Amino acid sequence: MNNNKILIILLLELMLSGNVYSNKIYNGTFIDAHSQAGPLITDEQVSKQINNNDVDLTLLSIRGKYLTANQRYKSIQSLTGIKTQYLIPTKLGGFTREKRPVEQVIGVINILKGQAIKHNIDYIGFGEIIVQHAPHNHSKLKYEGINNDLNSERISRAIQIVLKDNKPIILHVELNDYEKDSKKILNQLVELSEKYPNNNFLLMHMAQIEFTEAEFIINTTNNIHFLTSHADNERQNYIKKNKGKSQQGWINLFDKNDNFQKRWLDLMNKNPERFVLALDNVWDGHWLKGYTTRIYMWRKALAALDKNSSMLIACGNAKVYFKLGIQCLEDRAK
Ligand SMILES: [Zn+2]
Repeated sequence: MNNNKILIILLLELMLSGNVYSNKIYNGTFIDAHSQAGPLITDEQVSKQINNNDVDLTLLSIRGKYLTANQRYKSIQSLTGIKTQYLIPTKLGGFTREKRPVEQVIGVINILKGQAIKHNIDYIGFGEIIVQHAPHNHSKLKYEGINNDLNSERISRAIQIVLKDNKPIILHVELNDYEKDSKKILNQLVELSEKYPNNNFLLMHMAQIEFTEAEFIINTTNNIHFLTSHADNERQNYIKKNKGKSQQGWINLFDKNDNFQKRWLDLMNKNPERFVLALDNVWDGHWLKGYTTRIYMWRKALAALDKNSSMLIACGNAKVYFKLGIQCLEDRAK
C-alpha cells in the first residue's frame, strides 16, 4: 500500500469515527467462559497472566495428566483467587483417542469429579466434550483425529455425567472440518435440545458454524448457545500462516478492521442471550503471547453491540448458565 492510500484510509477513519465502530471500549465485567492450562505452562506463569490481564473471571479447565489435574487447579486457584473457577476436564485419560475404551475414559471423568469433591473444589461445570476433532500435525500436538456424533456411546455417557450435575453441556463439534457430517450433527443438536429442554448446551468455538446454520439453531431451539472462542482475526491469521498444519475450519466473526461483521453483529443484538464470550487459551503461546491484544480486540468489538447485548455476552449469560456468584458491571470504572 502506498502512502497516499494509507493517508486516505486514515482520513476516512477519522471521518467515520462517530459511527458504531468508534474507538469505544466495553469496560464492563468480562468472563472468559472456557480456557485451559496444560503441561506447557507452569501454575505460576498461567496465574500471573490471569492476574495481570483484563479478564475478570476465567472458567478454567486443565490439560495433561488426569491424576494431577485437580492439584494443578487448586494451586492456580490459590494464586488467582476470585479470578478463576474450575471446569472439570472431560477429555483427559485418552477421551479423544478412538482406541481408548469408553469404559476407561468415562471412568476418568468420574475420577476427576470425585477428586474435585474430595478436595472441596467448588466446580461450576465441566470442560468441553470433544465430539469431533480434526487431525493435528503441529509441533505441540500430533493427533489422528476423532469423529463421533452426539449419539455415540462415549459422547452420550459424557453428556449424562454433566446433565446429572445440572451444569451446561459444552460440546466441541466441527461443522466445517467435518462438513460431510454437519447436517447429521445439526439434527442431533436439535433432538438433544428437545430431549433436555431445561438444560443449556454451549457450542465451543462457534461449532465452526456457517451463518445460516447459526440462524437455524437460534430459530429452532431455545437452549443451544454459542461460545465465541477461536472465532477471531488472531486465529484466522494463525491459520493462514500455518496452512496444511493447523485446522482450517474455524469461522471468523470479525471483519478485517477487528469489528464484528455486520450480519453477526445484528444476529448478536437480536439474540444476545445465545452468545457467550470465551477465549479458550490452550497452549502456552495463547497465554503468553498476544493475550492482552486479543482481550482488547474483544473489548473493542463488544463496544459496538447494544449495551444490553455486550453485557449479556461478556458476563450475564455465563453468570446464568454456570450459576456464577459474580456481579456483572456495566462499567467497572464507575
Ligand atoms: Zn475445543
